[in-house]
Amino acid sequence: MNRRNFQLETDASKPFANRHAGQVKEIASTANPIVKDIKGLALKKNRDAQNLFMAEGLKLVTDAIVNGWNVRTLIYAKHMANQPHLQEVAKKAATGGAQILEVSDKVLAAISRRDNPQMVMGVFEQRWHLPQAMAKMADAPGDILIALERVRDPGNLGTIIRTADASGAKGIILVDDTTDPYSMEAVRATMGSIFNTKLCRMTSNDLVAWRAGFAGDIIGTHLKATIDYRSINYSQKPNLLLMGNEQQGLSENLAKLCDHLAFIPMAGKADSLNLAISTAVMLFEMRRNFLNMPEGRN
Ligand code: SAM
Repeated sequence: MNRRNFQLETDASKPFANRHAGQVKEIASTANPIVKDIKGLALKKNRDAQNLFMAEGLKLVTDAIVNGWNVRTLIYAKHMANQPHLQEVAKKAATGGAQILEVSDKVLAAISRRDNPQMVMGVFEQRWHLPQAMAKMADAPGDILIALERVRDPGNLGTIIRTADASGAKGIILVDDTTDPYSMEAVRATMGSIFNTKLCRMTSNDLVAWRAGFAGDIIGTHLKATIDYRSINYSQKPNLLLMGNEQQGLSENLAKLCDHLAFIPMAGKADSLNLAISTAVMLFEMRRNFLNMPEGRN
């Protein structure tokens, strides 16, 4: 295979220069306008304007392709060009219409804003699901959706996306003003699960209205709750797990929406658990009867 021309497929209507699909473009200068555009994705306003985001690392880009995401732009270090796995990924990306950029380490460092950047990066289109679709995704007993009220920390959000994926949750609803799941920090923390997790945005008022069309129970977590999270039966219906903000906890408005308010008993002197940790504790209890040891290991 000629690595300089993985496949020529052109679609001039798409941004991020898909008209160059399949062609390998070499870039050594951080002043190149394509590099400037990609660097710009570090800012939420640019990600939103173009509905794009960036994922770093060959593993994440591979996960994306395996999960059916099209790479818009594939960027890799020039000295990696002959790596067989990368060539395979580049070929698939080109088939999907990606622009392929072979760049200097300096350019990679500038794009990732790190001294020791990943050698491979991909630009992808953001995916957002409609509220009605979320309710349909979780309609069987044991199915779980998660709603996060005003989650602030990108590391927490990325970790929750990863944990939701691992637990088999059907999707995550981001309520009101939350940190961006498509920021580089959040995407990094998902370790690839961003490509296997359905996301939706709602205001808290939307969530209240949406509740009427959801067949399951809403389980909120609250530091003043009187119900032990282990005493609830999560297997009879679908459930929405509702988690509060890192500083303020669950708002009164949303606490009122819950069918159960659960507490995770704690020993020691900590007054609460970290948001991502408490979400994990809840999820794996709620999914207790639905998770099995991998075949051959029980
Ligand atoms: N100062 C906040 C408060 O008063 O709620 C602390 C919030 S805590 C760091 C963030 C979220 O994690 C909470 O809103 C709740 O959803 C969940 N959480 C943390 N520890 C919990 C526990 N022991 N039981 C139930 N939920 C907990």
